[in-house]
Amino acid sequence: MVKKLDHIAIAVQNVEEAARFYRDMLGLELTNVEVVREQKTKVGFFPIGDTNIELVEPADDDSPLVKFLETKGPGIHHLCFEVEDIEDEIKTLLGRGAHLIDQRPRPGAHHTRVAFLHPKGTGGVLIELSQKPRT
Ligand code: ZN
Repeated sequence: MVKKLDHIAIAVQNVEEAARFYRDMLGLELTNVEVVREQKTKVGFFPIGDTNIELVEPADDDSPLVKFLETKGPGIHHLCFEVEDIEDEIKTLLGRGAHLIDQRPRPGAHHTRVAFLHPKGTGGVLIELSQKPRT
C-alpha cells in the first residue's frame, strides 16, 4: 500500500550550493545530509509539512546521476512514495506487470529500504518506493 509522497528529489551538482535557494529564499531547513554509498549519492533533506525536498548529488564519478546531470542538467529527478511493506509492494507491482529497476529492495538514505520503477513504465517519471525502518 502506498502511504504518502515521501519526497521529491532534485538532481544537483552540489547539495550545499543548491541548498542556498531553499534555505535563504524559502526559509527551509536542511537536515540529514548523508552519503548513501550503495547509490553513490549524497543527499540532503528539506522537510516541508508532511513531505520533503531531497537534494541529490553524485558522490562518485560513476554514479548514475553524473549521466543524468550531463544529459538533462539539474532538476527534478524522481518522486518517492512511502510504502508499508516494500517486499509486498514489489511483488504486487511485478504481478501487475510493472517495469521495476530493482526486483528486490536495496539500502536507501536513513536506513530505509528502497526500489525504483523504470520511467518507461510510468509515463516518464522515475519513481522510488521506500519503506521506513521498523522500530
Ligand atoms: Zn529519493
